[in-house]
Amino acid sequence: MERCFLCHRKMDEKTGLCTNPKCVRSKPLPEKKEEKKDGEKA
Ligand SMILES: [Zn+2]
Repeated sequence: MERCFLCHRKMDEKTGLCTNPKCVRSKPLPEKKEEKKDGEKA
């Protein structure tokens, strides 16, 4: 299980992103393209 290096929460295995919504690593970086977008809200 990987952990976020910023907040040490668990990382989402599918997306590789942090599960902490307040963490900057919870969102993919704009420059880095993920496989698929999960719907952009707001
Ligand atoms: Zn985090």
